[in-house]
Amino acid sequence: MTGNGRYAPSPSGDLHVGNLRTALLAWLFARSTGHGFLMRMEDLDERSVDGADERQLAELAAIGVDWDPPVLYQSSRRARYAEVIDSLTDAGRTFECFCTRREILDAPRAPHAPEGAYPGTCLHLSDTELRERRESGRPPAIRLRCDTTEFTVDDLLRGAYTGLVDDFVLRRGDGTPAYNLAVVVDDAETEVDQVVRGDDLLASAPRQAYLATLLGYEPPTYAHAPLVINANGMRLSKRDGAVTLEDLAAQGVSAQDVLDLIARSLNMAGPDESVTAGQLLGRFDPAALPRGAWVWST
Ligand code: GLU
Repeated sequence: MTGNGRYAPSPSGDLHVGNLRTALLAWLFARSTGHGFLMRMEDLDERSVDGADERQLAELAAIGVDWDPPVLYQSSRRARYAEVIDSLTDAGRTFECFCTRREILDAPRAPHAPEGAYPGTCLHLSDTELRERRESGRPPAIRLRCDTTEFTVDDLLRGAYTGLVDDFVLRRGDGTPAYNLAVVVDDAETEVDQVVRGDDLLASAPRQAYLATLLGYEPPTYAHAPLVINANGMRLSKRDGAVTLEDLAAQGVSAQDVLDLIARSLNMAGPDESVTAGQLLGRFDPAALPRGAWVWST
C-alpha cells in the first residue's frame, strides 16, 4: 500500500526560498509516486508565531504546492504524545534526566563514546540520588533508554546512512514533547512512509527510525535534500536579505519567478523557461537531481 509524503514546517515565520524548494521536492516525490501529500505544523515549541501557519500555507499554495486536508497541528496531539511516552515508561524504556545542557557538555566520557552522545549521567542513579534530584525542584527531561549506538536508514538520495542513536530526549524538562518523538508518532499515525526534508535533519533520521522500530512502526523511506546556502557557504536564513516571497515581491520577483528559479536550481527548467508545478511533476526524476547545495545569491 502506498502511504503519504508530507511537509512539516515549524510555523516560526515566513518560509524562505530554501524551505519552499524543500517543500516542492517533498511534493514532487509524493505526487509522482502516487503518495498522498500531508501538511503538518510543528508548532509545539516557543518559536511558534501566531498567524505564521496561515502565511506559510499561502506561500506554499503560491508556488503550486497542494496538500490533502486537514492540516495537522502538533499542538492538538499533546495527549497522544503523553500516552506514547507513558507506554515507553511502562515498558522500562525511559528514565528521568536532570542534567543541564552545560553538565552534558562537561560530563566525562568513556574514551570511545561516540561524539555528541548523551554521556549517561542520569542513567544509573541510585534511589537516593533520584530522590535528591527530584527534591531539588528541577523538573526532569524524559529520555529514551536505548540499547544501541547506531542505526541505518534508507535514503533515496544518500543511499544507506548509518548514524548515532543515543538516549535522546522524549519530553523536555518544561513538559514539551521532543521533536524526535512527535515526528515519529505523527509520521506513523498519518501513514507517512516517505519523508523528504532538508539534509540538516539527516543526522536525526537514525534516532527517529530506531524509535519507530521500538514502537512497532515500519520506518519511512527518507530523501534528505541538499540545503540552499548563501554566497558564504552558510545555510540560507532570513538574515540573507530578500529570501521570502514577500521580500522578493517587493523587489519585483513574483512567486512565479521564484518557482522558475527553484525549478532551474533542480535542473528541471531551462534558463528562460517559465513552468508550473504540474509541468515539473511530469518531468520529475530523482536520479537527475543535483546532489550539491544550491547557492542563493541576489
Ligand atoms: N519542523 C522541522 C523543520 O521545520 C522539520 C521536521 C521534519 O521534516 O522532520 O525543520
